[in-house]
Amino acid sequence: MLDFVDLKAMLVIALIFIPLERLLPLHEEQSPARRHWLNDVVYLLLNGIVIKIGLLIVIGTAMLVFRQLVPVGLTQAVQSQSVWLQAVEVLVLADTGFYLAHRAFHAVPFLWRFHSIHHSIEEMDWLAAHRVHPVDQILTKSASFLPVFALGFSSSAILIFTLIYQWQSLFIHSNTRIRVGPLKWLLASPQFHHWHHANEREAWDKNFAGQLPVLDMLGGTLFMPDRMPKKYGTDDPVPTLYHQQLAYPFVGNAEQPAGLAEAAATTAAKPE
Ligand SMILES: [Zn+2]
Repeated sequence: MLDFVDLKAMLVIALIFIPLERLLPLHEEQSPARRHWLNDVVYLLLNGIVIKIGLLIVIGTAMLVFRQLVPVGLTQAVQSQSVWLQAVEVLVLADTGFYLAHRAFHAVPFLWRFHSIHHSIEEMDWLAAHRVHPVDQILTKSASFLPVFALGFSSSAILIFTLIYQWQSLFIHSNTRIRVGPLKWLLASPQFHHWHHANEREAWDKNFAGQLPVLDMLGGTLFMPDRMPKKYGTDDPVPTLYHQQLAYPFVGNAEQPAGLAEAAATTAAKPE
């Protein structure tokens, strides 16, 4: 998970998702060269390195403390299980951390300023999945992975989970009409996550889980009607370029006149 830019992997992913979105599009009128696609390519190429360095620092530092807190007997019990059972436990544990952190990013106004970058996506596709503020990703992934590392799960189990996570995070954002039948209640799908990005009042603050919709059932935040959303995005004044979006949580949108930015900040509707 902590390797640096892997251009070969990026190419393989593009060669899977670009044809898939052309063959089975959800929104047929949407082009791969939709608005702001180049900005999302910048995220694809640059953001991963920043996030990986941040994760190394945060998780590395926190583990110095967490390692002391977990009894050796508990770690041994975890490691004595089969790899596949461990992988399922990692999935549940990591997605619970993800759910809680994601919900906090929606509930706390200062955190929302970071997460609103991801919700500025107005046309969903695999490429847009990469548009995430590094602070958002570093804190959310730390919440996911810290308990997993602290309990000493095997690296094979963590690798299995990470591969599932990476594939699924692209799939659930993709512009595809692929439905997964009754599995939609078990595993996150485009139908589940597109509603998280919908700019429709009844869908705000819903579907926080990364992979397990049951967490939203338990948390009372599940929203998955049979139709698909027509409008995505946020009414917040999020700027359009990578460097502006990195600075936005701290300085707002510099391109907006001060009075307008202030008015927008107080009246902007928050979608999810
Ligand atoms: Zn969100």
